[in-house]
Amino acid sequence: VQASECPLNTEELGRNVWAFLHTMAAYYPDEPSNDQQLDMTQFIDLLSKFYPCEKCAKNLRNRLNTKKPDTSSRKQLCQWLCLLHNEVNEMLGKPQFNCSHIDERWREGWEDGSCN
Ligand code: FAD
Repeated sequence: VQASECPLNTEELGRNVWAFLHTMAAYYPDEPSNDQQLDMTQFIDLLSKFYPCEKCAKNLRNRLNTKKPDTSSRKQLCQWLCLLHNEVNEMLGKPQFNCSHIDERWREGWEDGSCN
């Protein structure tokens, strides 16, 4: 095992989990069934219980109390998640992401071909 293979710190964990969450939202159905909508809501709820950064999990639980996930469609879920991530960005003093570019960033790649 390489010496550089170390446990994740809060930043590394965050980057990896955001990548997973935004990609999962990017491939969520356009027209989810009721079961799929409930399952996704529950998935996010459970994430807030088991996210292995206690302060982040607590923050997430607080946010979920006031901002319920919009699981009604792929587009809505992507936008909800983008806003959630922007709230965390704001709290941490990081730049806001332009949510109109969510699909380029997490599903299609940029028009200039830089992801090909
Ligand atoms: P990240 O914020 O990890 O973003 C990764 C990439 O996502 C960016 O490079 C950008 O391309 C893209 N991106 C940025 N904003 C958006 C957006 N709004 N929508 C779509 N894509 C975007 N850290 C704490 O210190 N305290 C916390 O309370 C905390 N809570 C967290 C809660 C959750 C649910 C998660 C997943 C992470 C949390 N983190 C928290 C970690 C924190 O959000 C960052 O992941 C970490 O600081 C690393 O930041 P980064 O600058 O590498 O970019």
